[in-house]
Amino acid sequence: MIVLRQDPLTEEWVSLNADRQERPLTAGRLMGCPFCPGEGTEVGTVPFDVAVFENKFPAFHAPGASEVVVYSPHHHDDLAYVSVEHGTLIWHVWMDRTKALMQDASIQAIVVFENRGSKVGASIAHPHGQIYAYPYIPPRLQRERQQFLSTCPLCHFHEPHGPYIMANDLWRIEVPYAPRMPYQLWLVPQRHVAHLAELTEEEVGEGVRLMQHIVRTYDTYFGLRTALVMALYQEVQKSSAYHLRWDFLPIDRGQGKIKYLAGSELAMDAFVVDMTPEFVQSTLEPIFQRIHQEKRMN
Ligand SMILES: [Zn+2]
Ligand SMILES: [Zn+2]
Repeated sequence: MIVLRQDPLTEEWVSLNADRQERPLTAGRLMGCPFCPGEGTEVGTVPFDVAVFENKFPAFHAPGASEVVVYSPHHHDDLAYVSVEHGTLIWHVWMDRTKALMQDASIQAIVVFENRGSKVGASIAHPHGQIYAYPYIPPRLQRERQQFLSTCPLCHFHEPHGPYIMANDLWRIEVPYAPRMPYQLWLVPQRHVAHLAELTEEEVGEGVRLMQHIVRTYDTYFGLRTALVMALYQEVQKSSAYHLRWDFLPIDRGQGKIKYLAGSELAMDAFVVDMTPEFVQSTLEPIFQRIHQEKRMN
């Protein structure tokens, strides 16, 4: 059973679902993978390219939804390394689901995310993402909304902003001016777009490429399949002037070192970060450019 409760001290909502304790842990296992095609698995035997279904162990029921997006029938098809065509198909699934879920007026926010790797909580190794449609406004989005009321801080460049990794006509990759995690990056459309369903085909195609190059940059720098959270911040309420972005949150603070959320972060929501955005820019930019150029020439 799912219960929503509001914290009487902060008015922040939490979702309680004790049944989630029962969900299977198959990180790293291939046998018995519930997302590989086959009899009795969650995706069944009907052939698919990308599969979407209701999470068996949801964070929300209606109003609200928790959906799973299985990126591919193949157990090792990482989003960062599939073809651009297949990546585009995955983006289209996110766009279609955003459009469909938006029709329900009781849904306050739709967040697309991937927990990449068991270190950030992925309980099933088979690459997949999730869509949470919240029946309330998540605290972070609530606070951000206030900043978009008069002008857009992502369009107005007199607002403080961090250094860029790259920028073209369609997107830019920015190190946040005030990051929460050491190697955090944003992927921001240059056009003022509130939600995924408003993106053009051209923006999607380039977005897929850049997203893949960001994750490959991390994998090259950290020397492994980087554990990270990738989340799409978007706004589906018609009244808002929000500007969407992808947020990349690796948990590493250096090769082989993990940034743990500890006293200040967990107790106070106050993030202490071990390096400057300028350092992150100078470290990641050359790797990114190399990967980006190689792909252009192929
Ligand atoms: Zn699998
Ligand atoms: Zn904007």
